[in-house]
Amino acid sequence: MSSPQVIIIGGGVAGLACARHLESAGVSSLVLEAAESVGGRIRTDCVDGFSLDRGFQILLTAYPEARKLLDFPALRLKAYEPGALIRYQGKFHPFVDPLRRPAKVFSTLRSPIATFGDKLRLARLKIKSCRGQMRDIYSRPETSTLERLKSEGFSDGFIQRFFSPFLGGVFLEPDLVTSTRKFDLVFRMFSTGEAVVPAGGMEAIPRQLASGLPSEAIRVNARVNSLDPTTNTVELASGEKFSASRVVLACTEQVASKLLNLELKKSEAHGVTCFYFASNTAPVDQPMLILNGEGNGPINNMSVPSLVDPKCAPAGKSLISISCLGATKDACEEDLRQKVLAQAKDWFGASVEQWTHLKTYSIPYALPKSNPAFFNRKQFDSTCCDGVFVCGDYLETASLEGAMVSGRITAERLVKSFATN
Ligand SMILES: Cc1cc2nc3c(=O)[nH]c(=O)nc-3n(C[C@H](O)[C@H](O)[C@H](O)COP(=O)(O)OP(=O)(O)OC[C@H]3O[C@@H](n4cnc5c(N)ncnc54)[C@H](O)[C@@H]3O)c2cc1C
Repeated sequence: MSSPQVIIIGGGVAGLACARHLESAGVSSLVLEAAESVGGRIRTDCVDGFSLDRGFQILLTAYPEARKLLDFPALRLKAYEPGALIRYQGKFHPFVDPLRRPAKVFSTLRSPIATFGDKLRLARLKIKSCRGQMRDIYSRPETSTLERLKSEGFSDGFIQRFFSPFLGGVFLEPDLVTSTRKFDLVFRMFSTGEAVVPAGGMEAIPRQLASGLPSEAIRVNARVNSLDPTTNTVELASGEKFSASRVVLACTEQVASKLLNLELKKSEAHGVTCFYFASNTAPVDQPMLILNGEGNGPINNMSVPSLVDPKCAPAGKSLISISCLGATKDACEEDLRQKVLAQAKDWFGASVEQWTHLKTYSIPYALPKSNPAFFNRKQFDSTCCDGVFVCGDYLETASLEGAMVSGRITAERLVKSFATN
């Protein structure tokens, strides 16, 4: 490729989205990705015929940016049943939005998970969360999600049984200290769309983004070691150098800080540990999220991805995914796995003894923290030098959607910078 106008460091969703928008605007770019494949935090491995996402993830079909940028039909999306199966008082209780599954209205009304008042408050919150424009979410006063739920009048029991494991699994933190701006986004998205995974696993998303770029516009196994912001020259670990009039840092905040020689920020992220098991029979029969509403033991949430997409497991086999909040050190993995299996045995009985462990993913940097005032992080932008731009989920809502929004905003700024030069 002749010299690109823009070098993008990082081929995660944010970097790829930025490259796609630049491509549409007629601006050439080169994505330099350190790993052997694009995708960043969204990767899928094939292990013994099972497709394993590197950590349990879902796409919400209501994400507005994703709707514009992705070709949903080509991703052959497979949907989870709305609602959740909640483990509480030694049983699993379906907890389903009766407006979306009218047939389940009676089981939900009888459910011990929530008081009648909590059910009414949930319906009211749903109506409230769908009002107004999406962009209003980012200008509302913010507080922690827990404070919001309490101010809405939800009982402590319902918060513990439902919101804590459900939102804990989304925010990857159980205390619900995450900003109400992320809560508003997530709650609205869950209320208006479906939770899905593409056929073949989540990595199909970055792959689709990459497939819309010329093949020479992406270099993998290309770790950038240094950036000279005076000449916008980057040097790879291999010693190879690339220059362009603009450089985008589409890596994590920590890597961006390092490349810019800014004071290294301490990793402000939530981690998660995801265990995958194979079994001959599925422990539940519904493609639903399973939540730990009992508040004890290591499991926060689990699912049976093969009930959502049978092709993610070999014929006759089931794939089980279990998430525990927080990353675990290698030395503690075995111990945590035994505790997870003991809890699963308590839930599903002796059949758990037949489960085979496939793989464990311990991910210390899964989601950048999004506590109230996280939008101040945008100040990071102003510390950048001429011709150097940043993008990534940490600048928006820490999510796939946020990564795509950030990629678009950065591309728009780049295009403007070329136009004004
Ligand atoms: C376990 C888990 C569960 C999640 N669940 C959900 C979910 O259910 N729904 C949702 O919307 N979001 C979820 N997310 C968040 C979502 O995956 C991220 O917000 C999004 O993928 C971030 O994209 P990004 O491009 O900003 O960053 P990244 O994906 O981190 O991309 C950064 C890229 O930069 C590359 N890089 C780093 N250093 C260098 C270097 N020196 N040179 C070259 N390249 C470099 C990296 O290899 C990486 O590819 C989850 C994330 C995880 C990990």
